[in-house]
Amino acid sequence: MNYKELADLIFPNAKDISYYEEKYPKRNLKEGAIVTRYAPSPTGFVHIGALMQCVVESVLTKRTGGVLYLRIEDTDGKREIDNGVSEIIKSMKDFDIEFDEGMINEDEEKGEYGPYKQSARKDIYQAYAKYMIQQGKAYPCFCSHEELDEIRAKQENAKIRTGYYGVWAKCRNLSLEEMAEKINKGEKYVIRFKSQGREDKKIKHKDVVKGNMDFPENDQDVIIIKGDGLPTYHFAHVVDDHLMGTTHVIRSDEWVSSIPLHLQLFYEIGFRAPKYCHYAPIMKEEDGKKRKISKRKDPEAAVSFYSEMGIPNEAVKDYLMNIANSSFENWRKQNPDKQITEFDLQLNKMSVSGSLFDMVKLLDVSKTVISRFDANKVYDLSLDWAKKYDKELAKMLENKEYSLKVFGIERGNKKPRKDIAKWSDVKENIEYMYDEWFYEKLKEYPYQVINKKEEIEKILTLYMEKYFEETDDKQTWFDKIKAMSVELGYAGEVKEFKANPEKYSAHVGDVSTVLRVALTARTNTPDMYEIMQVLGKESVSKRFKKAIENL
Ligand code: GLU
Repeated sequence: MNYKELADLIFPNAKDISYYEEKYPKRNLKEGAIVTRYAPSPTGFVHIGALMQCVVESVLTKRTGGVLYLRIEDTDGKREIDNGVSEIIKSMKDFDIEFDEGMINEDEEKGEYGPYKQSARKDIYQAYAKYMIQQGKAYPCFCSHEELDEIRAKQENAKIRTGYYGVWAKCRNLSLEEMAEKINKGEKYVIRFKSQGREDKKIKHKDVVKGNMDFPENDQDVIIIKGDGLPTYHFAHVVDDHLMGTTHVIRSDEWVSSIPLHLQLFYEIGFRAPKYCHYAPIMKEEDGKKRKISKRKDPEAAVSFYSEMGIPNEAVKDYLMNIANSSFENWRKQNPDKQITEFDLQLNKMSVSGSLFDMVKLLDVSKTVISRFDANKVYDLSLDWAKKYDKELAKMLENKEYSLKVFGIERGNKKPRKDIAKWSDVKENIEYMYDEWFYEKLKEYPYQVINKKEEIEKILTLYMEKYFEETDDKQTWFDKIKAMSVELGYAGEVKEFKANPEKYSAHVGDVSTVLRVALTARTNTPDMYEIMQVLGKESVSKRFKKAIENL
């Protein structure tokens, strides 16, 4: 019995690997093109860290003329859900992340390097496992769970490393004949990698994100093909990333400890290893300690959380770019209108220790992003959000023409309004602009310095009778408020008021506040001139009348 015969006995129908090597030729891309992948299990769930990974990957592949593909890692059938793949694709599409190749729904795919679903690649893995057996680099292992538990217990008792390695790797030393005999008898087995590594030797590795690292060599005879004939993650990773032409494996650093094994597998099978880029997960602070954002504990782990809150996807992406490369923030300030793909993203500048997720910062980024949107976009996006999550707001926005005017206040100029961080803020921000809501919500008028009934009444009446003219331009409008202030004995300038505090009880700013409060029942609003323009004369006078009535 020789290795070849053993391999034929185990995988009689598996093809020679030359078939696959020819079927999936080296990609013909320009120098420096990055080929990378997003390789989730089909759980439907997209973690915020995975979204960051995909944002980074899509920027890098677009910038270098490379390829980003979606590979579904479903060899662990337990975690599957219905429509899991479509959910993932949809979540990514919402963030404008489209894959150049890979699965496009549960069963269909595009691209020349598929199948892109691991469960459909069984034959391929078996061909490569057969090749490993032929080379004497893999072998069948017949140990039962009980035997493996026994080995582990002995190791634990002796306080030595656990695992299937060296003298503990029982089946490694079976003769080929013994192996064949067990197989012929129908004994169950898995295929293990026959590691040539030694734990007392070190390997060096340069990770693109983490830099130079060293590790003890791998000496574990890990399982490469499980009892069900499907590969383990490690083996599938090596075969797939080789055949699919991955140049960069960008993945979370929970995989960093597998580097020695993966490099060894690539080496022994005779493939060139891709570059590894292990990025740190996004962290959260809890009780003064940093920990990973967890799918189980933290709602913000799921990308759906952000759309439910009404944070626009551009904002989430900009924020994730800040986390990926801290220099992005400054770049964005200087290039507010550029696409993120124009940013020179560097993998080696990604955080090694894990950045803290900061909701306040995200909302701040979001405010800036929304301030750059035009009224139409704000209208469309907030209406989309409202239809799903806030029927009242959706109703408020029914009058599109009017709502566009409302959203247009202080927008599209040099210093646009920055009061909306998420669509769930919109209602609170604009409701006073709609007469039906204004009167319904009205509870009190928060008058400030000028707060006496007679004074307020005088201001509002005089303003309507003598000074309000809808066609005035902004300067004239303001000059009139000044003139009215003077007519009523207030200071027309703040400076003048400060110079003669005993002469005046209030100044033009205080008079404006009276107008603002009567108009909106708020002390803080965007530009009052624009508000009056949008409301129109009829609504303004109705509001002032109501304010007087309520004094
Ligand atoms: N399926 C693996 C995971 O979800 C992929 C890791 C990788 O990118 O290699 O963690």
